[in-house]
Amino acid sequence: MTELQRQRNRVLAPQIIKALRQRNMEGRFAETREEALAMALELIPQGATVGWGGVTSAQEIGLIQALREGDYRLLDREKADPAAIPDLYRQILSDCDFFLTSANGMSEDGVMVNIDGNSNRVAAIAFGPRQVIAIVGMNKVVHSEEDAYRRAKYLAAPINAQRFGLDTPCAKLGKCANCTHEQCICCQILVTRFSRVKGRIQVILVNQDLGF
Ligand code: SF4
Repeated sequence: MTELQRQRNRVLAPQIIKALRQRNMEGRFAETREEALAMALELIPQGATVGWGGVTSAQEIGLIQALREGDYRLLDREKADPAAIPDLYRQILSDCDFFLTSANGMSEDGVMVNIDGNSNRVAAIAFGPRQVIAIVGMNKVVHSEEDAYRRAKYLAAPINAQRFGLDTPCAKLGKCANCTHEQCICCQILVTRFSRVKGRIQVILVNQDLGF
């Protein structure tokens, strides 16, 4: 991300935050990864139960490592026995104070789009954990909800399919083929446009490239 892009983001971010507030969500803007980490840790009290799903952005700001080193109860899927992961996902839905995520795309007016294969992530954003914290690099912000969908489906999903070493058409072609492959990671598409519970979803916008 260039300095000119960052300059533009500084002007845009307050408008996204205002739009999020109108959608019953809270927004914050961090200039650096370090600022974003401090903001996230301020939101999560020690002793809280924390889970996550697909959190490259949270890893990139150092949040997962900080939580592992701190005094929290973590529902840590990377540390779980693979056979126990489906139950861990269910536990995250029913017994979790904070769920960490990002967005595959976000519109300038505060709509988040997430695409999921296992669907644990979109389920937890929609319902379950008491609070959701989304770490969103400004590289994820595009003009409209439709653009956010396109970003998620046609850019983020093929990259994720390659990252996970899947056998999907997009992993081979570098572009979406609208597949129904058994390993498809575009099973559920969540558009988050309003939170019925005020303030349940907190978005930390970061003026950096994070995730894909
Ligand atoms: S090819 Fe399938 S898995 Fe890949 S992006 Fe398209 S729908 Fe998703």
